[in-house]
Formats: sequence, structure tokens, C-alpha cells
Amino acid sequence: MSTTTASALIRGYEVVIGLETHAQLSTASKIFSGSSTQFGAAPNTQASPVDLALPGTLPVMNRGAVERAIQFGLAVGAKVAQHSIFARKNYFYPDLPKGYQISQYETPVVQGGAIEFFIGDTAHKVRLTRAHLEEDAGKSLHEDYAGQTGIDLNRAGTPLLEIVSEPDMRSSAEAAEYAKTLHALVVWLGICDGNMQEGSFRCDANVSVRKPGMPYGTRREIKNLNSFKFLQQAIDCEIQWQIDLIEDGGEVQQATVLFNPTANGGRGETRAMRTKEDAHDYRYFPDPDLPPLVIAADWIERVKAELPELPQAMAARFQRDYGLPAYDALAVTQSKAHAAYFEAATKGCKAPKLVANWMMGEISRRLNADERTIEQSPVDSSTLAALITRIQDGTITNNAARQVFDHLWEPKEGEWVFGDQPGEVDAGLETLRNLRRVDQIIEAKGLKQMSDTGELERLVDDLLAVNAKSIEEYRAGKEKAFNALVGQAMKATKGKANPAQVTELLKKKLG
Ligand code: ADP
Ligand code: MG
Repeated sequence: MSTTTASALIRGYEVVIGLETHAQLSTASKIFSGSSTQFGAAPNTQASPVDLALPGTLPVMNRGAVERAIQFGLAVGAKVAQHSIFARKNYFYPDLPKGYQISQYETPVVQGGAIEFFIGDTAHKVRLTRAHLEEDAGKSLHEDYAGQTGIDLNRAGTPLLEIVSEPDMRSSAEAAEYAKTLHALVVWLGICDGNMQEGSFRCDANVSVRKPGMPYGTRREIKNLNSFKFLQQAIDCEIQWQIDLIEDGGEVQQATVLFNPTANGGRGETRAMRTKEDAHDYRYFPDPDLPPLVIAADWIERVKAELPELPQAMAARFQRDYGLPAYDALAVTQSKAHAAYFEAATKGCKAPKLVANWMMGEISRRLNADERTIEQSPVDSSTLAALITRIQDGTITNNAARQVFDHLWEPKEGEWVFGDQPGEVDAGLETLRNLRRVDQIIEAKGLKQMSDTGELERLVDDLLAVNAKSIEEYRAGKEKAFNALVGQAMKATKGKANPAQVTELLKKKLG
């Protein structure tokens, strides 16, 4: 795999980006206490004495959080440290009752590794510095308290894996693609629910600019970006801001900034929140309340043995076993649910390329429009397989299939609503039922493909009789006129005529 290609310059500057990503680990309880991590509970109902930092309480490590960190480390080809250390990161803030956050500093649990992805045909590889376990802070609530600030400690102690990249990215698009790939991976592994609105996956973007060949410039860090769109927009804003400043003779000062997407008439703005602390400002030291985290070799071995097939390996297998183009293989492995859908539908109709086409086309379009996930698709994999079967065996044209599909998506009253959920009935029976359902719609809408030669010949004769002009144009060498004739035949039959046969007959008749 080739690595990052030479980057495009922006106003003569090269951009350098490194991301720090907080992935909330999907454990039921917190990292050092037994409180629930469930989102959305009434304030402070999920804060135990440990989370409240009451005197005399001690943290106890959550084994599930460590297991997830190991899974991540193995999935990105990192070293999983068998011996790592928890440290106190000291700072004062109302939502941090202990006055320090338990994190890992000098010796994190995951060291190195890389995230690989494609942009177009170009392979990119972003190296990871580390990933460490830490606890989340609570939340300050500024609304609803009449000039006062409320503190909700439900989130305090929620387990986080902070994943730090090397400054390997050279454009905002690359940063967004890195974040998407990382997001897809942690969701795939099941170690994070990936819910960005609820803050389960959020990025800090470190951005600097430099003239080509110069050492890295001073960076500013944009905090808490919780959508890929904002991530990209914020970086773009920041790049322009830094270049403007330097071009005006100024110097970038290390700082922490916040992105406001609505400022500047919707163009967005990155505004300094505070000058950036350096590591020494946090007075890190090993947490005396927690022993070193020791991970036995056989624990790592077991996690490795149980690791699921990873998205990239699966995409490669789909290319190999199903003959899918690379682009299609990536599209149908964008999530585990997509991959499962693809494999199930392909099993049902034996036409992998058509399944991929429908998934990337009609299905993805309708899912986006309805804001549904693939698991919520009204046309399940077995139903799609039935539809494709009827295209393959010549019962319907592609055109008619789209009409059947629309019908399947939004069943009208009195019709069969959704097939049984996969797995509830025998797979063979389900296939049969879905074929019946598709056949009923084809029948009811009169969409059966016309391939009876006599019937088609009459159609073509009629067509030619009323289209003297097109015939003339075609004979004069206008290819378009011919296509218009085929188009008319399809329209006149509501898409039922077999276009290949129509083409053949027309060619024959026009000589
Ligand atoms: P801190 O923990 O204080 O934020 P780190 O040195 O751990 O600082 O770096 C944090 C992130 O900043 C990393 O993702 C790293 O790749 C990135 N980074 C470091 N130097 C630069 C730079 N000059 N420009 C852009 N990003 C940088
Ligand atoms: Mg940082």
C-alpha cells in the first residue's frame, strides 16, 4: 500500500493535522465504579460515591474496559502493553470533583498501530501514537438554572479510549476520512456505540501550517468536534485563519479553540478558548490508588482468537470470492450490518454485483431519504434477493424492478407488510414467501416483461409506423434517434418490453 501522496498546498502552505479521538467504551458500568453508563438518566442519578469523589472511596478497574482496549489495539496492529500505568491529570473544573482525571500518561495500554483508508484510488495510512484508557468528566449545565450552573455527574467516570494519531494528515478531507474509518472500526468491533450526537465519539483536531520543507508550525487544537462535517469545516476555517495571521506578519500561538459553525454568516469560526496548557501544567503523576494494569499474555491471545473478521479483510474477501470491484466491496462493508445484508442477499440470488448495485443505489438513496439504517430497511435482504431473482430469470426488466421495489418499500393497504424478520422462519421458506410476494406485485401491476416475439414485433411495427421522422434521422446517422425509439417502446409498455429484444428487432427492421 502506498502511503500519503504529496499534499496539495493551500495558498502556498502545507497543512499538518493530528487527531485525538475520544471513543466512549460500551461497558454497562463505569471505568472505576459500578454506576450505570446509560445515557439520558436524570442528573446525578448515576453517580456513586466514587464518581462523586467522596473521601475514602477507591477506584476499581473495570475489566470490560481493558478488554475493549485490547480489542482495539489488536485491530489496528498496535502493541498491547502488558504493563501500563494510570496517572492523575490534575486540573480544576467544577465538573471534575476529584480535582484530577484518571488517565494514562507515560505508559499507555495501546502503543503504535495505524489506520488505513482510501480516498478515491489513493491509499492513505495514518500512524497512531497511542490509545489510552481514561475516565470522562461530568457535565456543566448552563441552561435552565436562572443564571447559575448545574453539575451533572452521571458522565463522570464513563470509560473512554483516547486514540491519538501522529500528525500524518495533510488535508481536512483526509482527517474526515480518517475519523470515519476509525468510527466504523470501533463500531464494528462493538467497543463503542458510535453515537456522535450523544458524544460517544468526538474528535479534537490539532492543526498547523508550514511552508513546504520547513519544520512543523505551531498548532492550535480545536476541541470536541462531534460530526464529520463539523470536523472538516472547522479544520478548513482554522487553516484560513492561521494563513491569514501569518501572511499579516503574525505568529500562531499554541491555543485551544472552539468551533462555532454558525459564526461569520454560516462560514464558521474557530475562537480561542484558552491558551494551551503544556503537559507540565497538569502535574501528571502515577495514581497511587491504582496498581499498574497488568495484562497476561493469554488474555491478549484469547482476545486475538475471538476478534471478528475486520472490515478491510472482509472487503478483500468480497473482491476475491464474489468478484466485486474494490469500490463496491468497500461500500458493502461500511458496517457489519451492511456486510450481513450483502452476504444474505447474495446467498439468496447468486448475483453479488447486482446486490451491490442495489445497495449502493436505490436502497442507500431511500435509507438516506427516510433517515433509516440498513437494519431498518423495509426491503430486507431476502426480499431484495427475490426481486433480483426475477430480474435474473427474465421475468421483469430493471425498469420494472424499480417499480416493484418502490412498492415493496411502501406497501399499500391490504398488501403484505414486510416479510417475517430474518431468522424467525426457515430461510428456504422465507425465500419462497418473498418470491411469491414479488410475483404478486408483478402480477398486480402488470409488469411482466414482454418477451413474446410476436407481441414485441407488433409493438415495433406500430412504433415505426408513427415515427417517420426518427427513422429518417437514424438513417441519416443520428444514433440518438434510435435511442429515442427504444425509449418510446419502453414508455409505451411501462418499462415491460425487453430492451435488448426491442433493440434487436428495430435494427433488423431498419436494416
Ligand atoms: P497534547 O496531549 O498536549 O494535546 P501531543 O503532543 O500528545 O499533545 O499531541 C497531540 C496531537 O497533536 C497528536 O495527535 C499529534 O499528532 C498532534 N500534533 C503534534 N504536533 C502537531 C503539529 N505541529 N501540527 C499538527 N498536529 C500536531
Ligand atoms: Mg490534547
